[in-house]
Amino acid sequence: MSVNIEQLARANVRALTPYQSARRLGGNGDVWLNANEYPLPVPFELSQQTLNRYPECQPKQVIERYAAYAGLQPDQVLASRGADEGIELLMRAFCEPGQDAVLFCPPTYGMYSVSAETLGIEYRTVEALPDWQLNLPAIADKLDGVKLVYICSPNNPTGNLVNPDDIRTLLEMTAGKALLVADEAYIEFCPEATLAGWLQTYPHLVVLRTLSKAFALAGLRCGFTLANPPVIELLLKVIAPYPLPTPVADVAAQALSEQGIALMRQHVAELNANRAWLAAQLAQCACVQQVFPSETNYLLARFTDSPAVFKALWDQGIILRDQNKNPGLAGCLRISMGTRDECERLIAALQALPVEQA
Ligand code: PMP
Repeated sequence: MSVNIEQLARANVRALTPYQSARRLGGNGDVWLNANEYPLPVPFELSQQTLNRYPECQPKQVIERYAAYAGLQPDQVLASRGADEGIELLMRAFCEPGQDAVLFCPPTYGMYSVSAETLGIEYRTVEALPDWQLNLPAIADKLDGVKLVYICSPNNPTGNLVNPDDIRTLLEMTAGKALLVADEAYIEFCPEATLAGWLQTYPHLVVLRTLSKAFALAGLRCGFTLANPPVIELLLKVIAPYPLPTPVADVAAQALSEQGIALMRQHVAELNANRAWLAAQLAQCACVQQVFPSETNYLLARFTDSPAVFKALWDQGIILRDQNKNPGLAGCLRISMGTRDECERLIAALQALPVEQA
């Protein structure tokens, strides 16, 4: 009996293009600059041996430590399997498939659309302005029926912060109608720009955070949603019963200790210095047209012949992230901050490119 399994799947899942994560894209590199990870592993030891027991749904120590780190109360913090799970939990709790919509502003992070498509939720896009700030009048025109507005600041892949006055205006436009979700996955690289302090003023603000970037724990899969208790309580209704494995909570608690946070801040200072060095070096390369300012652990640059540059580096084991297909980003590659040695290898490889690629 032949059964066409594909036909049994939901139509939106059949049509779905999954998120092209750096790991899925593959490559044979030894200089990985394509996933905005921290370039070196930070050692941890597991202290919990009780794997016969289910974990706490929301591990108390992790929640308390993250709340203290973010300057909030524990009932304003939810832990999940990365910020990616937070993105999706919000849709599951707030959007009726086939009825409500979400909105975001490309070029931006790819999981907002993938999660919406997976769940059968309409998504609307309003392209960012040429300076990558919000097009507020165009957003206002499209807000009818929108329940969630995702604003990524600093934005992936462009690296810029979204103007806080515009976010305030957007919060006023959405009050009583939709939640504004500020994705702060990269906020540790510009901590003064966080909107976490605004939670006391805006009941419909949500902030997403992660341990994957500055905390050097992409492989841990641990993220946080910061919001006021009514939002957190709704998310707790739809989250999996045991979202954080015991070893994840164990390591996350260590990362959020005083020493863990101090180490993270030291890493951030080093990466920010590497970024300044790399931006200056890139600007001198013949193949580079423009280097965009960044508040994050990556740089976006426009190249004269980006496909040739991408391939030449790929062949040498230096893996960058191609942004050509993103609106407004023709010719652009995104470069995650590596160690200083990796940054130097990248620059040497770019300087050695044949003249026609430069
Ligand atoms: N938001 C943005 C803007 C990101 O770049 C990423 C990671 N690529 C995420 C969220 C998801 O992070 P996590 O690893 O915590 O799921």
